[in-house]
Amino acid sequence: MSEQSDSPPEETLDPADWAATRALGHRIVDDALAYVETLRERPVWQHAPQEIKAHFAGPPPLDPTPAEQVYREYVDYILPHQLGCNHPRFWGWVAGSGTVMAIFAELLAAASDAVSGSFSYCSNNYVELQVLDWCKDLLGYPASASGLLTSGGSASNLIGLAVARHAKAGFDVRSQGMQSAPRPLTLYCSEEAHSSIQKAVELLGFGSESLRRVPTNAALQIDVGALQAQIATDRAQGQLPICVIGVAGTTNTGAIDDLPALADLCAQEGLWLHVDGAFGAWAAIAPQSKHLVAGLERADSLAFDLHKWMYLPYPIGCILVANAEAHRQAFSLSPTYLAHGEGQHGLTGVDVPWLSDYGLELSRGFAALKAWMTIKEHGSAKYGRLIQQNIDQAHYLAHLVENAAELELALPVSLNVVCFRYTRPGCDAVTLDRLNKQIEIELQERGIAAPSVVSIRGNKYLHVAITNHRSRREDFDILVQGVIRIGKALD
Ligand SMILES: *Cc1c(COP(=O)(O)O)cnc(C)c1O
Repeated sequence: MSEQSDSPPEETLDPADWAATRALGHRIVDDALAYVETLRERPVWQHAPQEIKAHFAGPPPLDPTPAEQVYREYVDYILPHQLGCNHPRFWGWVAGSGTVMAIFAELLAAASDAVSGSFSYCSNNYVELQVLDWCKDLLGYPASASGLLTSGGSASNLIGLAVARHAKAGFDVRSQGMQSAPRPLTLYCSEEAHSSIQKAVELLGFGSESLRRVPTNAALQIDVGALQAQIATDRAQGQLPICVIGVAGTTNTGAIDDLPALADLCAQEGLWLHVDGAFGAWAAIAPQSKHLVAGLERADSLAFDLHKWMYLPYPIGCILVANAEAHRQAFSLSPTYLAHGEGQHGLTGVDVPWLSDYGLELSRGFAALKAWMTIKEHGSAKYGRLIQQNIDQAHYLAHLVENAAELELALPVSLNVVCFRYTRPGCDAVTLDRLNKQIEIELQERGIAAPSVVSIRGNKYLHVAITNHRSRREDFDILVQGVIRIGKALD
């Protein structure tokens, strides 16, 4: 008795005043929705001034801060200085722009501290498996494939290449390690492939020199003849080629490698075909554009994002692997406390596979929920129309560029990416590069629009990647007018 009264009261992180907390929560939801509803009225982006950066210095808080005040700090110091990727005129980097239902889903997932991956009897796993099934179905990928939702394309590429390594190395990489490779292993991608491919190759112990960067053709697609020649040279020199990485939609220009040719070549050479379809894979559901990515269903592994062209908020990506058993063998490992598949009941009984057997993470959040709720709310047909709308907008922008004497396209539009620059008669290449970089900065700093700048064959171009369900044709008019106005004012 006395023992109990002597001990300090037990604490919790739950609120002491639920009514006040509920009021704050309602306000936060109202504010969040108002923020999304009025995006178009605000500048795309605002530079964070020095005092904002200074706000984020200091030791960990020892004492409590009232919840209201913590939220106020968010509103004052964090919210105004976002990248702006959900704004209708954000096109600088490939970003998804977010959905309202996903805001709710993230809240709901956090409310139940939802975990996915292990513990097969949680319905969360069925939700993820259904989202994976929907992805396979929509992309025309084999229904028997395995898959996993990930934090994004980088993680998906890493997992895909890990499976490729396990399946094609010719020895037991998992137990013996890369130092036991009887011959150096080589992988192939184009010069335009994403940096995450090289990171994955480095992390998997191949070494970046094993990644052969094959030249591209005029459309910036991998040169299949050069690829074939490189494979032959490597074989002749005692290397073991294992994998070709094709890109469905390069980050710079939206170029799509010739996927059927890569699939044929890989079949003939006995190589793994990994396709990085980060955003481009989703062209497969656009009514008038599916043919552009035909062949991706033949990939041994297919990586893509849902936080790019499926418009979901960060983070959510996906990896699919045609040979489910190869996928499991590359990752499955269970300590006894997580032993599963024994008995029909309880948290660890036999039912759906543990998704943690298909990737590197054990505890994973419930990213599937925002995909599931959003796709259900809108339906895949609308998604297909939106993706087609973005592709049509890319052609609309290209048309505006072609009709403006001051502007020049870098190359014909391949998908949803438009690269163009401001030009001036008699201007040398160095000056044009500087001018276009300056135009990019002015557009961003003034909050007009957020394109980025990329280098294509040594020249700088404004880069507009359209994976935004809020963009309208008039937004591209505003961009083009802004570029010309700023270009003329700069000397
Ligand atoms: C964005 C992108 C990636 C990386 O995806 P993250 O989701 O940013 O990790 C990989 N490949 C391509 C082609 C991309 O555009």
